[in-house]
Amino acid sequence: MSDHPLTLTTIDDARSWRAAAHSRGETVVLVPTMGALHDGHLELVRRAREEGDQVIVSIFVNPTQFGPNEDFEAYPRTLELDVAKLKSNGCCDAVFAPDPIEMYPFGSNKTWVTVDRLGDHLCGATRPGHFKGVTTVVARFFTILTPDVAVFGLKDAQQFFILKRMAHEMGFPTRLAGIPTVREADGLAMSSRNRYLNASERAAAPIVNRSLQTAHHSISKGGMRDVDKIILDIEAQLLAEPTCRPDYVSVVDTEELQPLESLESGSQVLIAVAAYFGTARLIDNTIVDVP
Ligand code: AMP
Repeated sequence: MSDHPLTLTTIDDARSWRAAAHSRGETVVLVPTMGALHDGHLELVRRAREEGDQVIVSIFVNPTQFGPNEDFEAYPRTLELDVAKLKSNGCCDAVFAPDPIEMYPFGSNKTWVTVDRLGDHLCGATRPGHFKGVTTVVARFFTILTPDVAVFGLKDAQQFFILKRMAHEMGFPTRLAGIPTVREADGLAMSSRNRYLNASERAAAPIVNRSLQTAHHSISKGGMRDVDKIILDIEAQLLAEPTCRPDYVSVVDTEELQPLESLESGSQVLIAVAAYFGTARLIDNTIVDVP
């Protein structure tokens, strides 16, 4: 097992690996990541193991999903450590870590896959072009690997809903599975960007999840239906932390991801937050079935 997981760096090798799995009649499960793996990612990989026969984790810091002033250059790249973690996790058969030139052979891209409307709000509003980069690179992974299942975290709920729509409308033969957010003991969503937090920012950051849980409870148990009040309450809790600078607080439907004015019984809504703590921009959300 010393060669496990097998590390693939070229598209040709990835395709051969996929074809070999196919010829053995085995299903393939893909877990796309940008590396800097933490326990949230490792849980995703464990869940992937339950979804099929062969699990492949892609590790690729995708340049096209970063804006010009974002942390693409600074984004942690820890491939050796990531592979060692996957090895001890024991749930992954192969790692696909392509060179940027493999994914973007002409350097700058001319071919894009975009999903209209679902990216207009939340992270799409403050990170223009971000989801176009995500859908394009995931479509490329799907084309190369034709996975039977692809596993994503619901921490990035907008990304999950957009990719689900993309896969459905493009006719990819891939089922998307969404995995609940994995959290630290104090409720902070695990993220590769948590490493940017200093001690006081780290101590303050769980307010994001706490404010979301308060909102969730007020809707599901307290009969709250006033969207403006829900947003103001969350913002007030975030602003009470001196190190927190909210980016957005939004309440949207889970189909089209459009802002809601009021909550209807029987509907499902996504409450999403992005907030800066120092230079780290953290996101979190909760999905509520309105009683
Ligand atoms: P990233 O490397 O940050 O692009 O994330 C790769 C995948 O891991 C995405 O599907 C994320 O939604 C998922 N992910 C990241 N953090 C978490 C977490 N704390 N819980 C569950 N999934 C996560």
